[in-house]
Amino acid sequence: MAEPLEILNRLGALQSGHFRLTSGRHSDRYMQCARLFEHTPESEDLCARLAGAFLSGGTIADTVAGPALGGIIMAYEVARALGARNIFTERENGIMTLRRGFKVERGERVLIVEDVVTTGGSVKETAAVLRESGATVVGIGAIVDRSNGGVDFGVDFKALVSLDIKSWDEAECPFCARGATLTKPGSRKI
Ligand SMILES: [Zn+2]
Repeated sequence: MAEPLEILNRLGALQSGHFRLTSGRHSDRYMQCARLFEHTPESEDLCARLAGAFLSGGTIADTVAGPALGGIIMAYEVARALGARNIFTERENGIMTLRRGFKVERGERVLIVEDVVTTGGSVKETAAVLRESGATVVGIGAIVDRSNGGVDFGVDFKALVSLDIKSWDEAECPFCARGATLTKPGSRKI
């Protein structure tokens, strides 16, 4: 069975090169998890592995929730693997909310998933919304943890892959220094 990192590389979800990120900083790797969910067998496989990790750790979830947009497909796949209910949160005027008639019951056990965790902001906002409704957040799951151990959710956090993706200001970029061609992620050249 292929390692999760190997699968992300093969599908182009994790790309190596010399990239200009949306922040303007330069990086040698670029993560685009949508490229994983483009491929349904691999998405099913990785989400089932994450679901299995929580199950074998004794976590029971009635519901899996993900923050839009990145968490929607993933939450569905993890929920399907667990036989659980699937909902998502989304921003309304910048505030994370439960819309579309989604409700959680008092005491409902919810697992929150997000494709890539960097600062964990969306996950924390999702947890806050669910707890306000009385739900119990039983864990946080991610395909990729980019936080370098810098995020503490206060509950069990599991990720299939931990990545330390470095980035530099253009002036300090070692790839620019050696004249490497710069790629803008999302362009057709990748
Ligand atoms: Zn550069």
